[in-house]
Amino acid sequence: MKITMLGKIRLLILSLTSCLFVGCAVNPITGEEELMFISENQDVEIGRKYAPEIEKQLGGKIDDASLQDYIDSVGQRIARISHRPNWEYHFTAVEHKMINAIALPGGYIFVTKGMLEKLTTEAQLAALLAHEIVHVTARHSSAAISRQMGLSFLLFGATAAGAKIPQEAGLALQLIGLKYSRENERMADVAGLDYMVVAGYNPYGAVELHQMLQKQDKVRPAEFLSSHPSPKNRIISLNARIQTRYGGLEGLRIGKNAYRSAVLDRLPDIENPSPDKLDHLNNQ
Ligand SMILES: [Zn+2]
Repeated sequence: MKITMLGKIRLLILSLTSCLFVGCAVNPITGEEELMFISENQDVEIGRKYAPEIEKQLGGKIDDASLQDYIDSVGQRIARISHRPNWEYHFTAVEHKMINAIALPGGYIFVTKGMLEKLTTEAQLAALLAHEIVHVTARHSSAAISRQMGLSFLLFGATAAGAKIPQEAGLALQLIGLKYSRENERMADVAGLDYMVVAGYNPYGAVELHQMLQKQDKVRPAEFLSSHPSPKNRIISLNARIQTRYGGLEGLRIGKNAYRSAVLDRLPDIENPSPDKLDHLNNQ
């Protein structure tokens, strides 16, 4: 969509006035004030409204209550120690083959079957969910909507007031395709690492997750590799942070057997169970 100069000025005015009405949000992770078009209540409204459509676009929910409960339990464990422990979080595994994870505003997080098949431990799943939870708690999706969806946002505003949105599916696709900034991605990696350790997980799960994603470079998963810090740099900085902050920690959970029986063994058309090359440690 082309935005004319007049359009830009209008958006700027809108952003300034919105700031007065909606308020500038304080990012709980950085403690800094940010311009935010969308209120926290609207976060939840957007998430609740679009989650069913996005679930549909991603091939529907994987029909396995036990698998869903497991993904949810890992996610909730991390969400409870996050910067926004009292929000409601929803974790859903969906059928899509692409390797991806999506965080909607308001705590709706989706993980694809393509992604689940590539993971080998609960700590790797925890790393993935912790990264997505940071996008929620730091409201990166809301910021990306403000930034990228431009005037469509007005429609969200209208939804909040009870008006009808005709192009729901189109907007759902736009939400799936939202891109985070480089700084957002860096924060999700760093704070996600802290979240997973506080929740009791071995932080090398995050390194392994990015090593796996690095190998998928050709597939270009939308969330992790579409842009920004190169996988190689992310792995270097994760390793550095683990060594300086968490080097002495032992006994943190890896959960290889747990992940196998709760997820991998339950996915019927898994092609070749991945060899355990990625594991840093000989775990249980
Ligand atoms: Zn991300």
